[in-house]
Amino acid sequence: MIGRFAPSPTGPLHFGSLLAALASYCEAKSQGGRWLVRMEDIDKPREMAGTADHILHTLEAFGFEWDGAVVYQSQRTPLYQEALGQLKAKSLIYNCDCSRKEIADSAQQGIDGLVYPGTCRHKTAIKSPHASRLIVDSNPISFQDAIQGQIQQNLAHSVGDFVLKRADGLCAYQLAVVVDDLEQGISHIVRGADLLDSTPRQIYLQQLLGHPTLQYAHIPVASNAAREKLSKQTLAPAIDAAQASTLLTHALNFLGQQAPKDLTSHSANDILQWAKQHWAINKVARQRSIVLS
Ligand SMILES: [Zn+2]
Repeated sequence: MIGRFAPSPTGPLHFGSLLAALASYCEAKSQGGRWLVRMEDIDKPREMAGTADHILHTLEAFGFEWDGAVVYQSQRTPLYQEALGQLKAKSLIYNCDCSRKEIADSAQQGIDGLVYPGTCRHKTAIKSPHASRLIVDSNPISFQDAIQGQIQQNLAHSVGDFVLKRADGLCAYQLAVVVDDLEQGISHIVRGADLLDSTPRQIYLQQLLGHPTLQYAHIPVASNAAREKLSKQTLAPAIDAAQASTLLTHALNFLGQQAPKDLTSHSANDILQWAKQHWAINKVARQRSIVLS
């Protein structure tokens, strides 16, 4: 069993990231598994200098210990290119020079933005710069999420052919995640439910690259009083290492783990020990988001 935590270094860790780190850590460590940390720094223009190191120091201050060396997506472009080449060889990739406006003018709203209508599938002359899209089909993708239950999605209806390589030349998130999870031997993915709608795209990519579907568990995301997900965009405050014990206990309770009242008076390391020993994923609420109290 191998789990992972994969933050993007676009800002310091906030309570929402702590939930994902804690849940993925407990799920792996409670079963004697390995827990890896991967820095999703593929989008260099969005990155804040020094943030990756800050995130790692914060994880340490909260008592987390990861197995093996931290992997940086920015150093793995050849792996993503190789996967793209495999899909091209199967004639599953085509170039797309549509502008945002062209797509907006002809597309329907889908599960995660607009459903790309396939405009460029049969175009013969494509301008540069252009993106590369993956052809999807209409066979439903379904999987059993350990927290959210049975999930099914039809990619053709809900997403459309999606981008694997962006017009700016960067590998898209969906491809990088799938390639890394496979290459790192990840077996169990525990992350926020905001990524639930991406999972069928990732399962589809796994299938095309000849790999089995991984085990998934999507925890509820923490939202603020305005019901916005805590994130860098909604200005979620950075977690403070001086508050590690309080925040870890709060996070355990958010995840339904019923931490004893005196747990906050213990060190972060002791709290993680307790968490590993008592972790029960079936206690996590089957909700996509929970408003923080
Ligand atoms: Zn196009």
